[in-house]
Amino acid sequence: MTSSRQTRIDAPAPTWTVGADVAVIGSGVAGLSTALRYVQRTERGRVVLVTKDRLSTGSTSYAQGGIAAAMAPGDDPVAHMVDTHLAGAGLCDPLAVHVLATQGPAALRWLIGVGAEFDRTDGGDLALTREGGHRADRVAHAGGDATGAEIQRALQAAVMAEERIEVIEHALALDVLRDPDTFAVVGATLHVIGERPRRSRRRAGPGRRPGDRRNGPDLRRDHQSAGVHR
Ligand SMILES: Cc1cc2nc3c(=O)[nH]c(=O)nc-3n(C[C@H](O)[C@H](O)[C@H](O)COP(=O)(O)OP(=O)(O)OC[C@H]3O[C@@H](n4cnc5c(N)ncnc54)[C@H](O)[C@@H]3O)c2cc1C
Repeated sequence: MTSSRQTRIDAPAPTWTVGADVAVIGSGVAGLSTALRYVQRTERGRVVLVTKDRLSTGSTSYAQGGIAAAMAPGDDPVAHMVDTHLAGAGLCDPLAVHVLATQGPAALRWLIGVGAEFDRTDGGDLALTREGGHRADRVAHAGGDATGAEIQRALQAAVMAEERIEVIEHALALDVLRDPDTFAVVGATLHVIGERPRRSRRRAGPGRRPGDRRNGPDLRRDHQSAGVHR
């Protein structure tokens, strides 16, 4: 549709769509954790996780500096909050600091539970270090300065082992789709990069094989647009 001020080009119809209970966009620590937390907290429901490049691409693998959490004996979230505000010199969002300090220990324990291997002392405790403005031993590392890479590795392995999560790589999310009445997000459009059939990565368990149509549509794609919806 064209007006004197604006030219609109209608997008072609999607060449395939995939339905899911939850669609997660991105495969860094945020996306992988969200997908895993959903299946851990529910008994049924499928997740489709789309990511614009390979599963491993993103900032998470580059993070080197470790994770601060009040885990040491004698340390506590309030002390963590105080140190963070002092170091932030008034620039920190109080709500964000509160979440960081109070939920950090549980989040770190959760990462350990899904398989992330943090550095340990000879006695087997977390090898927490004291850095920056922290006045307690509070920073957990993995592989020295490879903390993000270890978190990415562990989360990826956990996602790939999960039957209810389907991963679609090389799929760039373009727009969210909204319900016209409620305005709630009900899907997304994707630009799938490369000329090949829909490629998904999921564990092929008993009775489920790649290409099995019970996994949802497994359509040949001859254009580069697709949709994910619920
Ligand atoms: C060099 C470097 C060093 C760092 N060091 C530290 C550190 O020491 N300590 C620390 O706490 N933090 C550090 N960070 C920050 C930390 O890495 C990030 O805060 C964290 O990884 C963000 O996680 P995320 O999942 O939000 O993003 P990412 O890990 O970047 O994941 C984003 C994902 O979304 C995908 N994506 C993006 N757009 C689309 C789209 N349109 N469609 C589909 N997929 C899409 C990407 O491909 C990627 O998979 C560092 C970052 C960098 C770059």
